[in-house]
Amino acid sequence: MPRLRFGPAGKPISFKNIDLIRIPEKLREMGLDAMEYEAVRGVKINEEKAKLFGEEARRNDILLSLHAPYFINLASAKEKIIENSIRRLNASIQAAHWMGAYVVVFHPGYYKDASSHDEALKRVIQNLEPVVEFRKSIGAKNVWLGPETTGKITQVGSLDEVIEICRNVEGTRPVIDWAHLHARSMGEHITSIDHVINVIEKIEKELGTWAVKPLHMHFSRIEYGKGGERVHHILDDTDFGPEFEHVCRGVVETGVDGVFISESPILEKDALVMKKICMEVCGVKCFANEAKEKG
Ligand SMILES: [Zn+2]
Repeated sequence: MPRLRFGPAGKPISFKNIDLIRIPEKLREMGLDAMEYEAVRGVKINEEKAKLFGEEARRNDILLSLHAPYFINLASAKEKIIENSIRRLNASIQAAHWMGAYVVVFHPGYYKDASSHDEALKRVIQNLEPVVEFRKSIGAKNVWLGPETTGKITQVGSLDEVIEICRNVEGTRPVIDWAHLHARSMGEHITSIDHVINVIEKIEKELGTWAVKPLHMHFSRIEYGKGGERVHHILDDTDFGPEFEHVCRGVVETGVDGVFISESPILEKDALVMKKICMEVCGVKCFANEAKEKG
């Protein structure tokens, strides 16, 4: 039986002015049970606050993840950029460890400095070594590193590349952004339930069942151009794909556990729309919390 969780990428827009510590309770009251803490412009949270936030999240059964800064390029040819990228990832792992977030989501880097996509991928894998060492050194084995499928064709992060990173680097697990897979393929991919099932089965086959227990996912509708990703759209904006119903049906059909993070401009509101869609697809039994409450 799949167990599904839903939550926003960052502080809910309805509670922008409320202290972070009070957010987990608000999410629970709303019927949500996950949240991705956004450190996309830098890891700024201190130890005390991170620990308090983590305690509140556990008390309210909100599963936490953390999104690392965007300014990471592990495939750069510049020593300084690699150093800064490693430093930002390490800071993300440290903060995730403090708050008890189970995965640090990150965009691996860009192809532009490498002679080929393969070379860029090799650099990413190599430059993750010191990050893995840091993770060990602070005893953060509970924190996974989550390379994400990226939305721009200039970025390392195709499904195959994400799988290859996870195959080669200790402590990594795949993060699937369905909108990005759609945008990267210029709208060709993730247009059917079968596409979704194929992605999940590929991950399971190539990495093992652990990689989809749970599968960490991002979703929104997305607008793309010739470079791929342009802008995320709300679920009501049906001019843009992909369809969340395809994604939910695919996840439910494969029976994997899933954590859905809403990256829609109306974060938590669309997380609730996603939950509602999955509720229609799968019923109450698929919901981590609802099922628990009802025995
Ligand atoms: Zn991301």
